[in-house]
Amino acid sequence: MEIQLQNLTKKFPNRNRKHPGDVTAVNEFNFTIPDGQLIGLLGPSGCGKSTTLNLICGLEKPTSGKIFFGGEDVTGVEPEHRGVGMVFQNYALYPHLTVRKNIMFPLENLKGKDRLSKEEMEKRVLDAAKMVSLEELLDRKPRELSGGQQQRVAIARALVKMPRVLLLDEPLSNLDARLRLQTREEIRRIQRETKITTIFVTHDQEEALSISDLIVVMKEGILQQIGKPQEVYDQPANLFVAKFLGTPPINVFSGKVTDGQVKIGEETVLLADLPDQEVTVGIRPEGFVVDEDGTFSCALKGIEVLGRDISIVASHPAAENASIRAIVGSTRLNQDMAQAVFFSLKTDKVFLFDAKDGSR
Ligand code: ADP
Repeated sequence: MEIQLQNLTKKFPNRNRKHPGDVTAVNEFNFTIPDGQLIGLLGPSGCGKSTTLNLICGLEKPTSGKIFFGGEDVTGVEPEHRGVGMVFQNYALYPHLTVRKNIMFPLENLKGKDRLSKEEMEKRVLDAAKMVSLEELLDRKPRELSGGQQQRVAIARALVKMPRVLLLDEPLSNLDARLRLQTREEIRRIQRETKITTIFVTHDQEEALSISDLIVVMKEGILQQIGKPQEVYDQPANLFVAKFLGTPPINVFSGKVTDGQVKIGEETVLLADLPDQEVTVGIRPEGFVVDEDGTFSCALKGIEVLGRDISIVASHPAAENASIRAIVGSTRLNQDMAQAVFFSLKTDKVFLFDAKDGSR
């Protein structure tokens, strides 16, 4: 099911008397989520991710704008008639019901012509449980399950009505690091098998990059960029996106354009057909190459062996916090600690931003 958001806006009244006026949680969203993909909705806390999900599933009504599912306007349609399955951060399982009854719950509430026979319900529950590898645990209660298993019950419960759209709100945030990795692979697999259009909310850029077909980056209710993970990483739309994506984060320098040359300090890092101006220069950690003939010099502060690569921390006067981090292949570093380290730069890893508003 393709989902289209058209001028979608949600404002909440502001309860903060010192700063009167509405809070615009979602501001004029215009984008289309293609059918059958896994979409990562990414941004810092408070940027409007949950509000966007709630608008799509119908738990919130938009202030203005429309939502279409496969071309059909569903803006006024009640949540239970939208064909949406939702998984919340805290799973919201019924503690007194078995796994089987928890998964069956949405089916038991179907009314009129939608009602299913007991046999049909049992079959649907078993199919959903198999999909998330829970068929052995159907008679347990939620408290007898691990966090990851509880999460899978919540997913099975969302799948049992065979929704057209699956919405997951920070589904991994209550799991420990190891389970988080495992469960995110599991969600990827389930999505591939069911081909249900799935929207996955997260504030964790690494999670979004690793799992999504398409990433939607948001900030303060405003869409920043939408694209494939690699595209968004390699072609960030602005400084915010460039800084939000990537581990370790991008290195940021104040620079200037003089006579078509982009300079950081005295060093020319790029040629650019731009008028003379101040610019912000972003260099990805992997954009540095240790090179004795390189002219970008930094003072070496530390080296950390990561296995295949090494991480270099160095200082540079024009860098944010006067510090940079480079990730380089395990070349031998001949320099002694506390000496200068020389780099050449990979120009496709160097980005220019407007010094004032961070646009590209
Ligand atoms: P996220 O999911 O990205 O953390 P939210 O969608 O929860 O962000 O919130 C976006 C903004 O809208 C925040 O400023 C939040 O305080 C505000 N907000 C969300 N829900 C409500 C509400 N029911 N009433 C008032 N303000 C709200």
